Amino acid sequence: MRNIPFFPYSQLFSAQESELTSVMIDVCRRGAYILQKDCREFEASLAQFMGVKHAFGLANGTDAIIIGLKAVGVGAGDEVILPSHTYIATAAAVHMVGATPVLAECGADHMLDAADVAKRITPRTKAIMPVQVNGRTCDMDALQAVADKHGVMIVEDAAQGLGSKFKGRSAGTFGKFGTISFYPAKLLGCFGDGGAIVTNDDAVAKQIALLRDHGRNEEGRVVAWGYNSRLDNLQAAILNFKLKTFPADVERRRAVAARYQRGLGDLKQLTLPPAPDADSRHFDVYQNYELEADRRDELRAHLEKNGVRTIIQWAGTPVHQFHDLGFDVQLPRTDAFFKRCFMLPMNAAITDDEVDYIVQHIRAFYGL
Ligand SMILES: *Cc1c(COP(=O)(O)O)cnc(C)c1O
Repeated sequence: MRNIPFFPYSQLFSAQESELTSVMIDVCRRGAYILQKDCREFEASLAQFMGVKHAFGLANGTDAIIIGLKAVGVGAGDEVILPSHTYIATAAAVHMVGATPVLAECGADHMLDAADVAKRITPRTKAIMPVQVNGRTCDMDALQAVADKHGVMIVEDAAQGLGSKFKGRSAGTFGKFGTISFYPAKLLGCFGDGGAIVTNDDAVAKQIALLRDHGRNEEGRVVAWGYNSRLDNLQAAILNFKLKTFPADVERRRAVAARYQRGLGDLKQLTLPPAPDADSRHFDVYQNYELEADRRDELRAHLEKNGVRTIIQWAGTPVHQFHDLGFDVQLPRTDAFFKRCFMLPMNAAITDDEVDYIVQHIRAFYGL
């Protein structure tokens, strides 16, 4: 029997152990720990990779959303519409700046549904925050049309979206700002917490630079209230090294998705995520391979018994089901989705053999 982890954390290091060791030794020998050249170089590489004017390394992806919202002036009395199918961090960031998270349904491709967003606009709506979940970018034309009609801004939680595109444009670059997470299991993972904000807006960039570093300007003078939320220089150096081979990782993830599609695409009991070539407007990078299944819990138990670890995203709870936080909105489509969804192993290190093994055991479960 095989033992296929959901995510092989130690491979983040072991796959390039000697190169990464040199990168870390170099940073430490220079004593370059906070806001040094490695961070600036990574920010420049990231901005270039995403095709955006400004990128800032932050302490984590959650801080990035909080600081982004502060930088664009979202605060008390404002409402921000976001999908319930997201990590609690998206909604928490809205709450933490004093605004109200308004939760919406996701559509057939698991992404924020523009028609449902339109129904939830009120005079207090300040922003729509699509989440570029699972490594796919939302239909940004549909969301932009809703935003334009009502004069509200778009801001993006692209924590899971690095490298994904809609009509050739990178996730994170559609809104006033976009945020990325470098949590180890994210597409581009570092060895701890890390995040970024990107923006094309010079004024917003200036605010972010102040907010992440105690309100200090380029001369080191405090000109605003700020946080301490800087990406560690050591993590920045690691990320800058890993970014060089990131496009190959993305290609591998897309190949794995295509292999799952070939192996499972005929099963009526499953609803697979869109295939890599399903819609030419979308370039998906498969942060996750999230599918729907009949008899999901039994299928997961069967896979577990055969050494295949799967998980249900957000531990099975979409944001609107956190009643302790005061949510009482009814989202029947999201509820139905969460009775069927789970995620198969998806990462750049999984082998074709392992994918075939998983496919074979799923087919066997359904008697095929
Ligand atoms: C991971 C994640 C975050 C938070 O990022 P951290 O770096 O862990 O703070 C926010 N939103 C989504 C959709 C995420 O997947």
